[in-house]
Amino acid sequence: LYVSQDLAAGQTLALGADQARYLVAVMRLGVGARIALFNGRDGEWLAELTEAGKRGAAARCVAQTAPLAMPPDLWLLFAPIKKARTDFIVEKAAEMGARRIVPVQTDYTNSERIRQDRLQAHAVEAAEQCGGTFVPEVTGLEKLVRLLDDWPEGRKLMFCDETRVGEAVGLADAAPGPWAILIGPEGGFSPPERARLEAAPFAHVVSLGPRILRADTAAVAAMTLWQMALGD
Ligand code: SAM
Repeated sequence: LYVSQDLAAGQTLALGADQARYLVAVMRLGVGARIALFNGRDGEWLAELTEAGKRGAAARCVAQTAPLAMPPDLWLLFAPIKKARTDFIVEKAAEMGARRIVPVQTDYTNSERIRQDRLQAHAVEAAEQCGGTFVPEVTGLEKLVRLLDDWPEGRKLMFCDETRVGEAVGLADAAPGPWAILIGPEGGFSPPERARLEAAPFAHVVSLGPRILRADTAAVAAMTLWQMALGD
């Protein structure tokens, strides 16, 4: 179960109404039941329910059962598309171990607004479901050009480009370290963006094969490829 509070031995945490309902009404747990808690920072903790009402519950941390497992230093940058597909991308990125998820606004991005809180909640759910102890941060919408202008020193960019089929582009000569993957919107990248990306010394152009994939498929394929080549 995900909580926002710090986790430490002896710490008692008040759980919210939704969590209380889930534990008491759905899981049928009562006082004394043992549950696992994580907050994305302090690993996984065994806790004991000390209050178990349908409107509120509390748990006391007993012992840490797993340390924080940080995923590799990989960011996923993607241009938000339709709501359900954007949700899918965030969920899969969290499952596959992205450390940060960055929705980017590009020249052809379909959606100019995102619900950061909703997307963050999807990342929490995905981490919960795959037993992770880490939750990636979902940032607000960032402008791609601004990100490229302020690109962090030492981070490489995997620029997924559907137009480079059959060319020798990929991760064969890429070194491990901090990376980011970039997936474009349905309309792809504009010519100025493309020129900017091609000139960026930190960018590696990568083809994901001869077919044009939908952005949500491309995001999963790119993360898999990166994990195979450079992940740990
Ligand atoms: N506008 C493009 C078109 O119709 O030709 C398609 C864009 S595609 C739906 C969305 C994004 O997924 C692309 O910008 C790219 O980042 C990624 N992508 C899709 N297929 C790819 C491939 N075969 N290789 C590399 N990237 C791909």
